[in-house]
Amino acid sequence: MSLKSYSDSVSKVWPLFTNIDVDYGEGIFLYDRKGKKYIDFTSGIGVTNTGHCHPRVVNAIKKQSEKLLHGQTTILYNSMIDELASSIKKILPDELNCMFFSNSGSEAVESAIKLVRHATGKPNIICFQGGYHGRSIGALSLTTAKSVYRSGYQPLMSGVFVSPHPYFKQHSNENSEQRVKHCLDELEHILNTQTSPEETAAMIIEPILGEGGYVVPPKSFIQGIRNICDKYNILLIFDEIQTGFGRTGKYFAFEHFKVKPDILVIAKGIASGLPLSGIVANKKLMDKWVTGSHGGTYAPNPLSIAAAVETIKVLEEEKLVHNSEDIGNYLLDKLQNIKNKHPNVIDVRGKGLMIGCELIEEDGQSGTYIAEKVRKNCLSKGLILLTCGPYNQVIRWIPPLTTKKSDIDRSLKIFEIALKQSLG
Ligand code: PMP
Repeated sequence: MSLKSYSDSVSKVWPLFTNIDVDYGEGIFLYDRKGKKYIDFTSGIGVTNTGHCHPRVVNAIKKQSEKLLHGQTTILYNSMIDELASSIKKILPDELNCMFFSNSGSEAVESAIKLVRHATGKPNIICFQGGYHGRSIGALSLTTAKSVYRSGYQPLMSGVFVSPHPYFKQHSNENSEQRVKHCLDELEHILNTQTSPEETAAMIIEPILGEGGYVVPPKSFIQGIRNICDKYNILLIFDEIQTGFGRTGKYFAFEHFKVKPDILVIAKGIASGLPLSGIVANKKLMDKWVTGSHGGTYAPNPLSIAAAVETIKVLEEEKLVHNSEDIGNYLLDKLQNIKNKHPNVIDVRGKGLMIGCELIEEDGQSGTYIAEKVRKNCLSKGLILLTCGPYNQVIRWIPPLTTKKSDIDRSLKIFEIALKQSLG
């Protein structure tokens, strides 16, 4: 299948993974301009957690659009911003009680970088192998998911140190706990040899790796990082841009690890597709930010706020976080069965509706080509899936949290046929 591209008037920096000339979306489905229907199990990269155009969210946006489209946050007080903060607070631990809002994930990561530097007076940040934190220069400096994101953009922000992640030590003969110990030892070693605790403002990690391969690390890894941060008085940032708002079967992935961050970065699922992101921290930390030293023109946009407030109500009232856990377990189980039948599927993992299915080639190499074949074969049968991982060797499943068992059954039928065809 040869893929469409945009006209010459549009930058080719965007790759295009499908041929779908999209017209509209409804729930888990997308429709092209000829009326062809697709199952969208990408959720626009983990954004449309309530499904495409959830009627309640659309209605909230419609109502707001008749009243105010832009209410600049520093010129006007808008009680909607307080309403938004209080609805997010309800789904977070008490300590995470103060917020700053922005538009995109990368922007929120930039805010976190600026806050930790400003609040601690320390310059350096430690990130972890395989992490994806965005494309703006600061966020990109923390991103090590694939070199294509970084190539040609050097020099990036200074003061960044990359620590190992247990997933990328799989080639070693160590078991998972040994790998965790190894990685935590190396983290301490970095503090001892490259950036001292006195110069290290924060560490940032995705508690479950997204673009890096849909990897759930052992609990002890995330807990170990928290302990090291506490021991050396270093702030811990969780980037939950992809894992937040019910995606992993909990409101936030950190709940799986029984570890809380000092700063939580949020975006994507927060507003069902409208641009909104932010950081959440304790008020004491947030108050160290000098008034006027950070901000932007647009955020939070009134339409995005209306969408977010309604999205959070829908998650709660339609029990979508529970559905994410329930349907996620169902999908995980079924994919395990497929794995047991197909030696090219070497791992199936995830939490809630964030599930990765890792493939290898016949000769044992990372399954880049097979994964792409499977993805395209699924697409030609009406199922949209994405890949991830350093070699794009992982098929990732990120369906809307409204997905039903029957939708999963239908998609798995397509997936299994596509898998068989791809293996020739
Ligand atoms: N962090 C994570 C964990 C993400 O998944 C993403 C987006 N895929 C980002 C940051 C960047 O967000 P944005 O594309 O909105 O800038």
